[in-house]
Amino acid sequence: MQIAETIIPAFVNGSKQLFIGGKWQPAVSGKEFDAINPANGKLLARIAHGDAADIDLAVKAARRAFEGEWSRWTPYDRQKLLLRIHDLVQKHFDELALIETLDMGAPITRTRALKDWISQVILFFASQTAAGGTETPRNSLPGQMMTMTHRAPLGVVGGIIPWNAPLISQWWTLGPTLATGCTAVLKPAEDASLSTLRLAELLVEAGLPDGVFNVVTGFGNGAGGALAAHEDVDKVAFTGSVETARKIIAASASNIKRLQLELGGKSPDIVFADADLDIAVPGAAMGVFGNSGQICVAGSRLFVQRGIHEEFVERLTQFSQTLRVGDGLDPAVQLGPLISEKQLERVLKYVGVGREEGARLSQGGNRLGGELAPGYFVEPTVFSGVHNEMTIAREEIFGPVISVIPFDTIDDALRLANDTKYGLAGGVWTRSASTAHRVSQGIKAGTVWVNCYLPLDPNVGFGGYKMSGYGWKGSSEHVESYLYRKAVYMNIA
Ligand code: ADP
Repeated sequence: MQIAETIIPAFVNGSKQLFIGGKWQPAVSGKEFDAINPANGKLLARIAHGDAADIDLAVKAARRAFEGEWSRWTPYDRQKLLLRIHDLVQKHFDELALIETLDMGAPITRTRALKDWISQVILFFASQTAAGGTETPRNSLPGQMMTMTHRAPLGVVGGIIPWNAPLISQWWTLGPTLATGCTAVLKPAEDASLSTLRLAELLVEAGLPDGVFNVVTGFGNGAGGALAAHEDVDKVAFTGSVETARKIIAASASNIKRLQLELGGKSPDIVFADADLDIAVPGAAMGVFGNSGQICVAGSRLFVQRGIHEEFVERLTQFSQTLRVGDGLDPAVQLGPLISEKQLERVLKYVGVGREEGARLSQGGNRLGGELAPGYFVEPTVFSGVHNEMTIAREEIFGPVISVIPFDTIDDALRLANDTKYGLAGGVWTRSASTAHRVSQGIKAGTVWVNCYLPLDPNVGFGGYKMSGYGWKGSSEHVESYLYRKAVYMNIA
């Protein structure tokens, strides 16, 4: 792909350091690790391999900043900072999108399309800097007692984010941190750190005070574990797997830190026989195949009413065959590679398990070779005739694999849809308002889409039921979760 070699931004080449206390520095150990382009397996950059010692330096810098001049910044000051950051992020968005595509493989059309959405997210948090102020609730106490409740920033927040959409995830920590006057240490995923490092450069340009936002790159069981366990971190905001969440919950016990957890999903997407298949087929397909299935809300259990099951599978198969898979730098590509060889092996292992358990492979299921062989590409894959008890219908695959499961009635659909340990999202496709209402009420998940799949608005927010985690991201509730509340009783007699 000639564009790859000619337009790699200067930023991507060379070594990338840790961003601590406003300064760029190597890891204390001096170690580095490789950033690999998943589209071709080639080295993109060497990244500082941060560990517990670096996390400690970053937390100290964040604490100093929290107690320093930053604490005297007014909501208006922080709002202006967010607006300056907004303008710089918008100005450099093509570059951020390109870095993201090179680093984690999503098609350039997809990463560039985030421009407006990220703008909306930053402006949302800019609008929240004065939110949640002092209130004067009534009381029933004798005498003349005035009661007030105040809000105060929690302190130092640790952000631990995954690789599937860093351009988005980084803002779920940075936005509420800056809106409330907290400070943060962010640990990006080892497989996709580069856009967060470039963002840090833009933050400096925007006038971010030293230490307010720190980035320590490294691995989960080193830097990640140290951040989760650090006793001077007041909150950890984590997005990732259930297994890692369990470790983070255990580590949080050291100082009873607050947690926000957005975990996996095995979301049901339910198509009724009366649905408009012209929108349901591509909508349901891209609700999984977008980002090559590496989407936490992917509607990977696709329930289709029995009467249209065969027709739907056929149309879904045909649609999948039209999708262009390849290096995401090519603007015609719709599906990029998986993030790594490890992820590729995991996805192919699930495809094998699906076949062994008797699901019908209607489309795909293979690694792509030829000129794509050096990268980690898997065909869009459709299993049909799947039972909800099969492994491929129970475990999160995080790859371009759809399991089509037939159902008969609304009650069946809801019973099967809710028969999962997860509850992140769900979808329903129907022309009937009453079916849409019943099913959207009945699905036990934090987000339900009707006749669409994937749109999210930062002002609305999202979160999980059951093992998909806790804490609401976006909306004023997200901002509130970065604030302490304090009641003051004032005897004014
Ligand atoms: P995924 O399977 O999607 O990579 P993970 O939960 O393993 O999800 O990773 C999400 C983030 O959590 C990454 O930044 C990773 O480095 C980090 N992480 C992994 N293990 C730990 C751990 N034990 N403690 C803290 N963070 C971790």
